[in-house]
Amino acid sequence: MNITGTLINYYFHCKTQAWLHANRINLEDNSEDVRIGKVLHEINETRVDEVSFESIKLDKITKDYVIEVKKSDSDLEAAKWQLLYYLYKLKQKGIVKKGRLEIFEKSRQEKKRFEVILNEKSEAKLLEVINNLEKLIAKSSPPKPEFNKKCKKCAYYEYCFV
Ligand code: SF4
Repeated sequence: MNITGTLINYYFHCKTQAWLHANRINLEDNSEDVRIGKVLHEINETRVDEVSFESIKLDKITKDYVIEVKKSDSDLEAAKWQLLYYLYKLKQKGIVKKGRLEIFEKSRQEKKRFEVILNEKSEAKLLEVINNLEKLIAKSSPPKPEFNKKCKKCAYYEYCFV
């Protein structure tokens, strides 16, 4: 399977989730969080500034920034590496941009914004992550699930724990 930004995100969020998604064990998730995510995505899909290439779909790209929109800041680390992966893929095509995470929480009026920069150090770590992710998803079975509070909101909750 091709590495995607979503897989990079799952790698940081939960390695079991990354394996299940990469191995095409996909469960329909109708939770409110996922519905909000879909609406945000649909809003972005109507934008003329959305860019797709290879298996990458960018929420928005401007003169200076690639912008990734999230519905909460519950896993900023995973979102940051997903965005770094997009910056890296663009850099490979000769396009150098900064990244910006925009958090659009339903309970708040204002968006939170975080700048993300691909530098030598983060790029080296990203390459290591991609390498480890490729090894993880090539395994014949997923890592044993470890319960965490984020599991309650995960589409794989029943698969892992019920
Ligand atoms: S339920 Fe928990 S352990 Fe299972 S895939 Fe989701 S986050 Fe990972």
